[in-house]
Amino acid sequence: MRIEADLKLGFKDVLIRPKRSTLSSRSQVSLERTFKFRHTGRTWTGIPIMAANMDTVGTFAMAGALARHGLFTAVHKHYPVEEWETFAAARRTVGQDHLLANVAVSSGILDSDLDKLNRILERCPELACICLDVANGYSEHFVQQIGKVRAWHPDKIIMAGNVVTGEMVEQLLLSGADIVKVGIGPGSVCTTRVKTGVGYPQLSAIIECADAAHGLSGQIVSDGGCTCAGDVAKAFGAGADFVMLGGMLAGHDEGGGEILEQDGQRRVRFYGMSSRTAMEKYSGGVADYRASEGKTVSVPYRGPVEETLKDILGGLRSACTYVGASQLKELTKRTTFVRVSEQENPVFNE
Ligand code: 5GP
Repeated sequence: MRIEADLKLGFKDVLIRPKRSTLSSRSQVSLERTFKFRHTGRTWTGIPIMAANMDTVGTFAMAGALARHGLFTAVHKHYPVEEWETFAAARRTVGQDHLLANVAVSSGILDSDLDKLNRILERCPELACICLDVANGYSEHFVQQIGKVRAWHPDKIIMAGNVVTGEMVEQLLLSGADIVKVGIGPGSVCTTRVKTGVGYPQLSAIIECADAAHGLSGQIVSDGGCTCAGDVAKAFGAGADFVMLGGMLAGHDEGGGEILEQDGQRRVRFYGMSSRTAMEKYSGGVADYRASEGKTVSVPYRGPVEETLKDILGGLRSACTYVGASQLKELTKRTTFVRVSEQENPVFNE
């Protein structure tokens, strides 16, 4: 046993210190970034915020809404191959040529998962990005499966995770990933930290993993733990190339979640992809050898996602103006975090 005594921080432990700036309006801030990927040499341009591959968040409808603003969607893995075909064909009729550039098709790493992934990519060759998602990205088997997928699809952008430490980011990048998903335990409906005691504070995970990835010309996506637009700004400030959101995008029409009526209020069911609810829906229940590591909750119904997006992007632009970053790309360089023991003033919180 060993104890690491270095300080590790989460979003709640810091604020971004304001800096002198020549920007006079947040409308002068560009949130677009262009990335070139290490294995494919492909480039992507857009606002690097993405919907999580959860079945009430990363849906086809969400992908359509987010792509209109240049944002990305990791589409969940439970759509049948035929629905992918319809989705890919429909984008021509709705005139969203960039839609398929802004979605990833998600997959687990069982042979049956990869077989389905290959069938989707065969029928929808325009899809550019694959999201290989496992709860624990530290297994040797995961590394081998990434290598296989890279060999099969040399021209696709591969996003893989989740991990939280630099050495494993390097391993996944060297094995074939272009983007590494970072985050174990911070998610809004995740119970990994309570069920297993395993995890890593997200802000420190971002700082350490971004450093490792950038050294190898790779990217990271900070996955999980953002509760407000300020956290998204902190994630980018810490060095994240992309930020993935689950809970912050839950409760909208595009997620297609079940709408519930509680005490006269409309709410939407939201659950983790390893929750009992998800396992019963897709795997016929929780297998004897495992525990569910996700919650099932209900969130207020919030209508179309459009307003929420404006709110998040507005907050992020404002964060950039506070530190004088005219482009999102400059935010990390211009960020100094201050450690704090308070965040918002709670006096009027309900
Ligand atoms: P959020 O933005 O809601 O805080 O976090 C979203 C992320 O939580 C997802 O992208 C995924 O990595 C993680 N997640 C989703 N469902 C589960 C689950 O059931 N268990 C765990 N441990 N993590 C989950």
